[in-house]
Amino acid sequence: MTTKNKTAERLIHASAAVNLKHHTHYLGYARPTQGRFNRSRLPNPIDVLHQLDIITEKANSKGYLKLRCPFHKDGNEKTPSLNLHKTTGHYRCHACGTKGTDILAFYMGITDKSFVEAAKDLGVWEVKHDR
Ligand SMILES: [Zn+2]
Repeated sequence: MTTKNKTAERLIHASAAVNLKHHTHYLGYARPTQGRFNRSRLPNPIDVLHQLDIITEKANSKGYLKLRCPFHKDGNEKTPSLNLHKTTGHYRCHACGTKGTDILAFYMGITDKSFVEAAKDLGVWEVKHDR
């Protein structure tokens, strides 16, 4: 593992933490015109990987897909190091250690979008309108 990778990983985690903190604050003061995250509508992780043009191998017996880790900033991996669960989206790279609990976290890490932007992209941000 290179220092560069560690820094990149820290940046991803720091950015996710900031976004989540912001999100919590946002929910606390949400007005009816603002939205909320609906976890139950998270898309199938495989569909999201297809949208991102990420190729995976077949899932193993525990349901994990293997893919080339997109969080390695210094180029493409030759051997896939990242395992991502085909239904829960939980992922972990055994080379760089990047991990997350669902496909939304994965999508945020890849696109560098905020929690709300990423949730909108994946169709899990519900906006309620004033009555
Ligand atoms: Zn990795």
